[in-house]
Amino acid sequence: MAVLTLHVAWSQTPTTTNSTDRSAFASESAESSWFTVDCDYAGGNIIVDRLEGDHVYVHQDLRDTSGNWFYWNFRVKGAAGRSLTIHFTDTNVIGVRGPAVSNDGGKNWRWLGAGAVRDQSFTYTCAADEKEVRFCFAMPYVQENLDAFLLAYRDHPHLHVAPLCQSQKGRDVSRLHIGRLDGDPKHRVLITCRHHCCEMMASYSLEGLMAAALADSDDGRWMAENVELLVVPIMDADGVAEGDQGKNRKPHDHNRDYSGTSLYPEVKALRELVKTWSDSRLEFALDLHDPYIRGGSAEIIYFVEGDGPTTENVRRFARILESTRQGPLPFRAADNMPFGQAWNTASNYTSGTPFSHWAGQLPNIRFASTIEIPYANVSGQAVNPDSARALGADLAAALRIFLDKP
Ligand SMILES: [Zn+2]
Repeated sequence: MAVLTLHVAWSQTPTTTNSTDRSAFASESAESSWFTVDCDYAGGNIIVDRLEGDHVYVHQDLRDTSGNWFYWNFRVKGAAGRSLTIHFTDTNVIGVRGPAVSNDGGKNWRWLGAGAVRDQSFTYTCAADEKEVRFCFAMPYVQENLDAFLLAYRDHPHLHVAPLCQSQKGRDVSRLHIGRLDGDPKHRVLITCRHHCCEMMASYSLEGLMAAALADSDDGRWMAENVELLVVPIMDADGVAEGDQGKNRKPHDHNRDYSGTSLYPEVKALRELVKTWSDSRLEFALDLHDPYIRGGSAEIIYFVEGDGPTTENVRRFARILESTRQGPLPFRAADNMPFGQAWNTASNYTSGTPFSHWAGQLPNIRFASTIEIPYANVSGQAVNPDSARALGADLAAALRIFLDKP
């Protein structure tokens, strides 16, 4: 579980006093009430600096992150009827559509909108009967979400759930086999997600991809006949559960663990498994990520091109996706990030080899890449569970064309 950060406010309504004047604040307490701010649930992350009246001062918990990052996820209880202003005291960690908000304990989420944001703060008015509200940088996806997805496919003849390993802290990590499961598929495909545990929106796209592969549809039936997908939905199980940033974790993160002796059990187990499972039929390996907080390439979907022989196929797949896309999130093959551009250079590997580079060197591999799926905004369209899942379905459809028509 997350490290508990529980602060109890001695506060009052209405906020007529100067909130920086603690003595005045404490003295006008005739209408006082208590509310709490905490992150003691799966995926929770916050450090509370102080509470002053209806003003909550917080910042993201970086833990073992090298440098800065922007993930946070907390709840407020007992603030019914109050208009709260949340101030981030470190860096500006509010995304382009404001915070995500859940009014049902984390089941459903919506963007509060940029209109609620002012500089490094946002304001939210709790309904008169609202006992609890959660706020997050984006829309959380933890093991419980994956379990709910899998429950809907229980006993599906083309889904097999198996253990991959136990995480460093003893959590069970699953691998999924989807499609043709008799050991004799025409094509093998490897899909991974959450090497960077905070990159939650990618998980909704993964759900969309898996749902399309399992569907009773043309694409689903073709997958069941021709393809075995190996999927590891949560590559950093401890980080997802505990609400870590994960990105740039010291000494290196899960996506820089594909050379030498792997530090993380998930990566070690996957590298071992693929040696035998691939059987020279692994053609396609894709790792799903979310990019940066805002601006430029953080607000477009793109594939990261490598420097190896799979590059031309990554471009071809991107062109297929562009020409067949049906979901609402815009995608242009021209937005692929070529090797040698921005951070995508050989020096990016100095802290360790990423999944895509490792996969690109496997025997007979044709496609190995990373897709970056923005947290909140793609060229003006909102990223949310539905639009991210639609992208996943489009990825599955493009995968069929890619594999079926070499
Ligand atoms: Zn990432």
